[in-house]
Amino acid sequence: MTEFSITILGSGAATPTLGRHCSAQVVNIGCFKMLVDCGEGTQNQIRAFHQKMQAFSTIFISHLHGDHWFGLPGLLSSMHLCGRTEPVTVFAPKGIKELLERIFEVSGSHLGYELTVNEIAPDGPEVIFENGKCKVTAFPLLHSVPTYGFLFEEQPPLLNLRKDVRAHYGLSDTDCRRVKLGYDVEGADGTVIPNALLTKPRKLPRSYAYCCDTAYSEQLLDTITGATMLCIESTFDKSLESLASLRQHCTAAQAAQLARQAGVKQLLLTHFSARYKDLDLLLDEARAIFPDTFPANDGETYTLPPNDQEAR
Ligand SMILES: [Zn+2]
Ligand SMILES: [Zn+2]
Repeated sequence: MTEFSITILGSGAATPTLGRHCSAQVVNIGCFKMLVDCGEGTQNQIRAFHQKMQAFSTIFISHLHGDHWFGLPGLLSSMHLCGRTEPVTVFAPKGIKELLERIFEVSGSHLGYELTVNEIAPDGPEVIFENGKCKVTAFPLLHSVPTYGFLFEEQPPLLNLRKDVRAHYGLSDTDCRRVKLGYDVEGADGTVIPNALLTKPRKLPRSYAYCCDTAYSEQLLDTITGATMLCIESTFDKSLESLASLRQHCTAAQAAQLARQAGVKQLLLTHFSARYKDLDLLLDEARAIFPDTFPANDGETYTLPPNDQEAR
């Protein structure tokens, strides 16, 4: 099975603390590694947790609150200083282009590689990136500045041929390649052989939904329903629900409620307020509603479980 994992580089809200840096994660799908958010100090976290800075050619920024992107100019600059020549693409809300240009201009910085900055502003779910390994959909969240969630979906694996069909139908190598991609083929006598006769069902692709920062919003369900793993912020506990809604954040219970409504397999909580010295209260509140809840901890890697469902 293709590797599909999340490594946490930062899981704290607003300010870095000892043990919890500001938001940043690595999403690894089949060794294609994407950086999601880039809070202050992310390049140190990349080193601390044995990631390779130059592995990131694609970076997604959820919003322009500082705890989600203040590490980006430094990281882009270090990539240059360490000899990067490969291009980098950044997806982020409107404003990032001007911010980066000003920072590099005023600081006299120069990048020796091609940097493409794509400003995003989707009204609803919109595919913003796709390659042979994955597809990434951006969607709006509910926060005090324009903020977007990201749904990472692995590309479906090739179909497996049923035993003996190759010889039975006299399929060529080209036929077999097409069948594995899901096409029907023509037999020697010109009749069409349906793909379902030739292949076994395959596991449904897995998906990871990242929602940080956001207030509780049932609109998210349009995109996150059925995700294998949901990562959502849980800045506060239940007793601070009115503060959470004032600042457009979620409580742990609200995050769990969304996970239950969305029918996801696992819930990963992140973006914890620095006021919580341990996470027991937040985890208890969430697990009472959605038992398969885990806390994001800096340096830990979470692997998505396989999908039980099969389809063609
Ligand atoms: Zn934040
Ligand atoms: Zn924010």
